[in-house]
Amino acid sequence: MKLNIRKNGDPVLRQKTIKIKDPSSKEVQDLILSMIETMKANNGVGLASTQVGSDLRLCVIQPEDKCYVMINPQITSRSSKKVICEEGCLSFPGEFFPISRYGEVQVRYLDENGKPSKAKGKDLFARAIQHELDHLDGVLIIDRIKKTRKPTIKKTSTIKTTDKKIK
Ligand SMILES: [Zn+2]
Repeated sequence: MKLNIRKNGDPVLRQKTIKIKDPSSKEVQDLILSMIETMKANNGVGLASTQVGSDLRLCVIQPEDKCYVMINPQITSRSSKKVICEEGCLSFPGEFFPISRYGEVQVRYLDENGKPSKAKGKDLFARAIQHELDHLDGVLIIDRIKKTRKPTIKKTSTIKTTDKKIK
């Protein structure tokens, strides 16, 4: 079932999600199918549960052909380098913002069958993982703009310190 995508200003986008205890439940399985359908119908690279009004800790990401279902995802490592790139969001239709993200990340999650899985993301995939995981914590791309606008390219340590405070 195609779901409505919540737009910026909807309080549900600020909600922190709750860990899923039973990935095999009908509620979770139905949500997965609906989120994949909704992401594809909107030509999105990823979609987080909060964007369709749910508080279950789940996102779907399709950087290329393969579609990843990530239940309770957690970033386990990040590259030292960050990359600034124009980034969009289905909750901000037609808008793009320059956002700084880690170039590579590793993520741990449960797949759609509840199986513990790992993925290594580069470029667009890495960006999508960070973007969707932000959503699961109620963080939106507009929250990331300020940091990008204070580019202290030489003072990378300053940027890192700021980051740590946010997490
Ligand atoms: Zn988004």
